[in-house]
Amino acid sequence: MRTRADGGEARVRAAILDWAGTTVDHGCMAPVGVFVELFRRRGVAVTLDQARAPMGTHKREHVRLMCAMPEVRAAFARVHGREPGGADVDAMYAEGTGLQIACLPDHAEPIEGVVEAVAGLRARGIGIGSTTGYNREMLDVLRAASAARGYAPDVAVAASEVPEGRPAPYMNWTAAMRLGAWPASACVAVGDTEVDVRAGLAAGMWTVGVALTGNEIGLTAAEWTALPGVEREGRAHVARARLREAGAHFVVDALRDLPPCIDAIEARMGRGERP
Ligand SMILES: [Mg+2]
Repeated sequence: MRTRADGGEARVRAAILDWAGTTVDHGCMAPVGVFVELFRRRGVAVTLDQARAPMGTHKREHVRLMCAMPEVRAAFARVHGREPGGADVDAMYAEGTGLQIACLPDHAEPIEGVVEAVAGLRARGIGIGSTTGYNREMLDVLRAASAARGYAPDVAVAASEVPEGRPAPYMNWTAAMRLGAWPASACVAVGDTEVDVRAGLAAGMWTVGVALTGNEIGLTAAEWTALPGVEREGRAHVARARLREAGAHFVVDALRDLPPCIDAIEARMGRGERP
């Protein structure tokens, strides 16, 4: 085992993984359908880009951010004669929780390579935490469905359990605390969105962006594979750049590529580097 220059252990103690688009639900499809439907029910047609832009935030905040988009406000006002307000956000969030729970079991399949990568991390003594923009009710449904398919993190923290969801660091800290993993500089936060990256950095953790299986690409595994190679390469380039620009220490294509990253992080820790 490597030791740090100051004599401390140069070992990663916890990996704190996002859910949709990182460990399950390739393309982050489950939430998108719900947001499109919520606005459709109110006579407002939102685009997939609009529905995806706030991804990673608490689902209530996600609704609020969509309602704050100028085009969405204007479309809502044309139908309702007024702009959407706090009561609309509350109503949509409440209605969205039911819709989300109904479809989560259909989007709980672990992304290819996740089960094996997580087993590898556990074998080297790394605790597996998880965070999400889902609230506790949604997360409980997703966690049970994904456990039945082979992926069950040791700890699962929902956005509704902390004072503020991403980009605030609280979920990462709560997951680390429940795992008994410290310091933050011995933890790795992993996610598929810019706010995931910002929350990992805000927590003082090593931060890894997952570029191709999540919200940045927004396609199922089958849809992604079906794209022409040139288009795949172009979109991959953009997705990786966005996460790198958000400040990720490392950007990988999929969670299956995390173990070599942990090696690189431990090497940097061994040289006395901190996130
Ligand atoms: Mg995600």
